[in-house]
Amino acid sequence: MSTSSHTFPLKPGSTIGVLGSGQLGRMLAVAAARLGFKTSIYADAAGPAFDVAASTTVGAYDDWDKLTAFAGTVAVVTYEFENVADATARHLARLVPVRPGPKALAVAQDRLVEKTFLAGLGITVAPFVAVASAADLAAALPCGNQRAILKTRRLGYDGKGQFAIEPATDPAAAFSAIGGTAAVLERRVMFEREVSVLICRGADGQDVIYDMPENSHRDGILRRSVVPSRLPDDVICNAHAIARRIATALDYVGLLAVELFDLGEGVPAAGRLVVNEIAPRVHNSGHWTMDACATSQFENHMRAVAGWPLGSAERHSDAIMDNLIGADALEWPALAAEAGCCLHLYGKHEARAGRKMGHVNRLSKRV
Ligand code: AMP
Repeated sequence: MSTSSHTFPLKPGSTIGVLGSGQLGRMLAVAAARLGFKTSIYADAAGPAFDVAASTTVGAYDDWDKLTAFAGTVAVVTYEFENVADATARHLARLVPVRPGPKALAVAQDRLVEKTFLAGLGITVAPFVAVASAADLAAALPCGNQRAILKTRRLGYDGKGQFAIEPATDPAAAFSAIGGTAAVLERRVMFEREVSVLICRGADGQDVIYDMPENSHRDGILRRSVVPSRLPDDVICNAHAIARRIATALDYVGLLAVELFDLGEGVPAAGRLVVNEIAPRVHNSGHWTMDACATSQFENHMRAVAGWPLGSAERHSDAIMDNLIGADALEWPALAAEAGCCLHLYGKHEARAGRKMGHVNRLSKRV
């Protein structure tokens, strides 16, 4: 039960709290500012979001006094990363509305809970089994030449905490490679392409869904998203139904990303999509919405969190979004000079390898 005295829809001038100081928090804060909101960022270290926020707090995510003080200065709390600890979300939720709610976090931050939840909704996921030890893994390893992926239950992102299992893999070595921690073993899916659904759901249950991007990864990190995807309408319709089922079951408020594998044309529409994972936050595969849509994913997330009506997710242009990873960002003078290239830089000082430094959106006439 919240003790907050704020009423929704929040008035312009209200302060929205954000947990996390990365680029997603930064883009959320900029979008909120456009609507007249102030943003207060709470994070365990300063980051790019601090440069654009009205106020900032550096504090541990289990510093209950600091979190209580933070909650006292904001009308609502949202977050930019799914690994907010359950205890942190619940502490804040006793003081102020937390959107999306703690249930979405609990589901999305543990791969075993997530896959079990999705399967329970009748949604197809890669066949999986829980693995708590090297012996479990040895017993679960696929026979023949089937391939699988071992993933830590918690704290995996951008392909981290994963190990590809080949027919000759030694279970003890594989289990220790992911840190000897609780994991899930899932079958490797032979997909044709990766796509995602970006759905934004308001507090009143209304939603908008962006056109689905087709996503390519390298080394486990998203490199490029292209809209429109090559999916036929009936498969897109199924993807929307999957996303709505998840958002409704979580009583979700805000932007939810659902990452899917498309098994391709050879498979009937009803069985083509396999959900890989969900992210209870704005998502890298939705960055193109900043320039190609009437309302970006960041603005719609903040609208939902503030109890506002959602803006149109309509796409006015075709778009290709490329992440600028590490040294890619050093090309900024050429990108800034390129006609039609929408450049977004996150203000990170050091262009370390593998670090997301910015992205570019290139638009073309919608076909
Ligand atoms: P994740 O951290 O689960 O999003 O995985 C990162 C990337 O690894 C995905 O975007 C896929 O390209 C690949 N991947 C993850 N799980 C599987 C799977 N079961 N089968 C095939 N590829 C996968």
